[in-house]
Amino acid sequence: MTKRIWILGIFAVLGSLALWITRTDAQPGTVKQIVPGVWFREGDLEGMGHCNNIIIEMKDYLIVVDANFPSGARLALAAAKQVSNKPIKYVFDTHHHGDHAYGNPIWTQAGATTLAYKGVAEEMKRYEPARWQATAKGREDVGELHLDAPEPPKQTFDKSPFILKDDTREVRFYYLGWAHTRGDGFVYLPKEKVLCTGDAVVNGPYNFTADANIGNWPTVVRTAQKFDVQHLLPGHGGTSGKEVLEGQYQYMALLHKAVEDAVKQEKKLTDIVDTGTTKMVYGNQVPATTSIKLPENVKNWVGPFFAAHVRDTYDEITQKKPHGDLPH
Ligand SMILES: [Zn+2]
Repeated sequence: MTKRIWILGIFAVLGSLALWITRTDAQPGTVKQIVPGVWFREGDLEGMGHCNNIIIEMKDYLIVVDANFPSGARLALAAAKQVSNKPIKYVFDTHHHGDHAYGNPIWTQAGATTLAYKGVAEEMKRYEPARWQATAKGREDVGELHLDAPEPPKQTFDKSPFILKDDTREVRFYYLGWAHTRGDGFVYLPKEKVLCTGDAVVNGPYNFTADANIGNWPTVVRTAQKFDVQHLLPGHGGTSGKEVLEGQYQYMALLHKAVEDAVKQEKKLTDIVDTGTTKMVYGNQVPATTSIKLPENVKNWVGPFFAAHVRDTYDEITQKKPHGDLPH
């Protein structure tokens, strides 16, 4: 009897260990090497609202992809110091959203130059400082900086691609069109076949359509699919191969088609989205339910924001303007 309990105990320990290992693999906050000199830090979106960061080692310096929120910036800064003693020279904002760019002052103070496609600075002019001031009320890491507005990227480029190159590596920064925001930047390492997508391509139900051009989004992803990709490093969700590009394309294309069909059938917004019932998702109040259904093959992208995606797509189609151009 005692022996049996002991054996059961061993199984219980092994069982929980296996569970722990699985969780650790998917756990935010971990840093893993993708190829020699390129590391991926998975941000804690659920708990901290953080985005992912990528650290790229050049001959004499480091490049970090995305500034994150200030608290995420500090964690990514510590991760960069752990993997290399080279200085961080550039931090690339893939777009203007707080979880990707509000950490800019932290990197500037650390001696880095924040870099972005010019569209990122323009988006900040369009939407800020209102969003910063609203965020500072709810987020300690933003509030404690005591700034009235976000810090724009210190260096911008308007010709895509902008290229950083030395004897060891080439890193290309691209603008491929308006998808998630008007400033969407991609980072491509041609030799290593690594593509960092920001939030133009996410691996999971993390799409956010408020500032988007939903109708143009699939076109941008198609353009990104022309890159030879072995490692896809998204703004949110885990790393993957190029298959996530096709999934993101399908999700955006099918979402748009489903809503377009409903509009053609002269359905009203309230026929397809329950606009009366809302819930909070990562600090955003969004409609809770929709009658629109998408096929199984894109279920990885269907989550708590889905009814908001349907609403934003409906508004974009019926008002004949990209959602980002509508008052919101
Ligand atoms: Zn975003």
